[in-house]
Amino acid sequence: MTNSNKLFRWRSPYDLKGTEGLFAAAMAENARFQAQHCPDYARILREQGVTDLTDPLSLPPLPTLYFKRHALFSLPENKFLIKATSSGTSGSMSRMAFDAGSLLRGLAMVWRMTRYHHLLSPVPCHYLILGYQPHRGNDTAFSKTGYGFTFFAPALSRTYALVWREGSYQLDLEGLRRRLLRCARGPFPIRTIGFPAYTWLLLSQMEKEGIHLKMPKGSKITMGGGWKQFEGQQVEKAELYRLAESVLGIEEKNCVEFFGAVEHPILYTTCKHHHFHVPVYSRIVIRDPDTLEPVPNGTPGLVNLMTPMARSVPILSVMTDDLGILHDGGTCGCGIESPWLELLGRVGAKGLVTCAAGAADFLKGGGDV
Ligand SMILES: [Zn+2]
Repeated sequence: MTNSNKLFRWRSPYDLKGTEGLFAAAMAENARFQAQHCPDYARILREQGVTDLTDPLSLPPLPTLYFKRHALFSLPENKFLIKATSSGTSGSMSRMAFDAGSLLRGLAMVWRMTRYHHLLSPVPCHYLILGYQPHRGNDTAFSKTGYGFTFFAPALSRTYALVWREGSYQLDLEGLRRRLLRCARGPFPIRTIGFPAYTWLLLSQMEKEGIHLKMPKGSKITMGGGWKQFEGQQVEKAELYRLAESVLGIEEKNCVEFFGAVEHPILYTTCKHHHFHVPVYSRIVIRDPDTLEPVPNGTPGLVNLMTPMARSVPILSVMTDDLGILHDGGTCGCGIESPWLELLGRVGAKGLVTCAAGAADFLKGGGDV
């Protein structure tokens, strides 16, 4: 069995100490594969003068911006089972594709993580998806992962906020509201899936209308896609948890958030204190925006995400344009001992220039970055 497969089948999803050596070996294995099968990756290693692949920290972190401008594949197209693009305006999307082996590792991870966080349930439920109804031609990762999340518990129904009608997507908040009112009288739990901003929008609208429901036991609010849409609105997470309790009767401990990216398809799930702990499948390094050198835990910087999950694309170390802080393991108090990531949001225009300049520096000769 390869080191990557061993890592993704590790029994305890937050055993970072126990997997330190295995993680480095799996990263080296993946880096060797990318160097052999992806000419662009081999060139970047050469230009960076990276010859020792055994230290994950020394592997060049490729900016997400780079993937938005270049499609880099390390396997022939007939090996791809899933193609996905990141959400965004057309022309600035990352194109990713995943082969069977990468997807199987992903599935093993989803199985362990959802079981650990009590998200797998045999009790059927009604899903309210605050996102796009899947439709041919909509390849964004959100519509795929959003749909994927409706398999954690058997689905009795799926109600979408954005429905495909007569050739375009239309917002149907009324349909969601009707479904919620009906579910409150039924025996089966509900699960909402969507951006925190959409969740907040729906709940605050319902509160304004004086709606206060008690959803059946086992109901959950699950959110993904980050808080970016809140910029300028300044909605605090605490306010959203209050709304969940007040409008739907769903307790704060049943509000769960996910984090991941098409360029880093790792499922981060919040603990009971709403923190994203680092699972065995990845490591997070925070880097100084100017020098790109790693900074100590507790210091803000650019978030560099590493995972050996995918073979089909060289996404083993990606540099996001998110700012974050990595907190020491053991400081959360929830019982999970691994470090946790606090996301501070996107770098501003000025920061992005710095980041892009840093990236362009080590990708010089790499085309149009
Ligand atoms: Zn925690």
